[in-house]
Amino acid sequence: MKHRGNGGHLPTWIDWFGMRFDLITIFPEFFAGPLDHGILRRAIEAGLVQVHVQDLREFTKDRHRTVDDRPFGGGEGMVLKPEPLFEAVESLLGYGVGDATRQNAADPKTAIVLMSAAGGLFNQETARKFAKMERIIFVCGRYEGVDERVAEHLATEEISIGDFVLSGGELPAMVVIDAVTRLLPGALGNEASSQNESFSAVENLLTASGHHSPVTSHTLLDFPHYTRPAEYRGWGVPEVLVGGNHAEVAKWRRAAALEKTRRNRPDLV
Ligand code: SAH
Repeated sequence: MKHRGNGGHLPTWIDWFGMRFDLITIFPEFFAGPLDHGILRRAIEAGLVQVHVQDLREFTKDRHRTVDDRPFGGGEGMVLKPEPLFEAVESLLGYGVGDATRQNAADPKTAIVLMSAAGGLFNQETARKFAKMERIIFVCGRYEGVDERVAEHLATEEISIGDFVLSGGELPAMVVIDAVTRLLPGALGNEASSQNESFSAVENLLTASGHHSPVTSHTLLDFPHYTRPAEYRGWGVPEVLVGGNHAEVAKWRRAAALEKTRRNRPDLV
């Protein structure tokens, strides 16, 4: 677990070892619901994560609290202006990021993530990388998007959650927060759950034929789960799962996970 200790002296606020998420948005009320349920809610209550929602409009200076402007070069829609975004991030960081003549070094434990349909694809590997950070600041775009200088000179990453276009970065940021939080030590009731699910690396994958494949690290989807009743509308559950032979169950699950991965995600096999 991350620990920002001070060498065994009296504990101070700096000993807090949780993850901090900051969300910069023009819709701060958006997050009330998603943060208030299940694993995320428990992680916040337990102090594993801290979430701060930052209203972008607090960093505007005009009477109308303008965050957007028309695109240079013409065309549809509006673009989020750079000034409020840079100033919001710098205010959260507590230091300036610099300018074209002098760009300040970024803190390696803090990610500044621009949510963008044009970003690199988010996946479980990125989630694992983010889970090692101390802080993640999300910039949520709206309208046609965000002035490119934010991607170039402010964000440390530009991330998309999939090959589709949404109307704002708020839901995508929540998707990333959810995926990262459940990887933090202590966030799930059962530590094993985040090691045995879809997209976790599988050592010595057992093939459907029962032979060990030489694959050492592989990504598989989760195996199928069943619960009571053992028969529903005439549809049963695989016999081996009811039998209680743990070795047989483990073997069936590996084979079923491989079969399901082949069927639903041939690109992974
Ligand atoms: N004109 C842009 C889309 C803008 S959508 C384009 O064609 O790429 C408005 C905002 O929604 C974006 O700035 C981004 O923050 C968010 N967004 C939309 N789709 C997203 C996706 N797949 N992943 C992450 N963020 C997305």
